[in-house]
Amino acid sequence: MNLSQVFARSPSVADKLFPAVFVDRDGTIMQDADYCSNPKQVRIFPGVPEALGRLKAAGFKLIIITNQSGIGRGLITMDQYRAVEEKVLRELGPDLIEATYFCPDVPGQHSSWRKPAPGMILQASREHRIDRSRSFFIGDKEIDAECGRNAGARTIRVQTGFDRDTTGTVADWVTPDLAAAAKIIVDLANE
Ligand SMILES: [Mg+2]
Repeated sequence: MNLSQVFARSPSVADKLFPAVFVDRDGTIMQDADYCSNPKQVRIFPGVPEALGRLKAAGFKLIIITNQSGIGRGLITMDQYRAVEEKVLRELGPDLIEATYFCPDVPGQHSSWRKPAPGMILQASREHRIDRSRSFFIGDKEIDAECGRNAGARTIRVQTGFDRDTTGTVADWVTPDLAAAAKIIVDLANE
């Protein structure tokens, strides 16, 4: 056993896990622009930076989890994706988002990452020391609720995307927007 293994086994170091709020991007943080390839199309919903700030202040790591099949379909280049991601992060404000995970795979292709598969959340949990049982997923589509549930997190569906019909959803809560979802989470954290 080398020294790093000794430290890795120390409970005070190794067992410290954090709660997170995983957040979808298109239709949840910003207007769904249908394969957004241009930073000029980025429209962050009003109140989102402030609501995310309240979640961070309550102790949650904030991680964006986004399907970007436009890349796999050849509609968005990696450079365009990166430019849009940069604009989103800049508009949200500094030091707010811990990390962003995106999946370029197209529907129908075998993928352990594309939502509703939980791969992005599992990877993020390993890399950012997340306790999923204390974590939440906020998204506008049913695949977001399914993805969060598949990863063992509690889930909230917001009605700011294209699909506002939440009949029969597996989500634990439905709210009009991300700010209302954040309020539920902060209230639970303060209980
Ligand atoms: Mg979405």
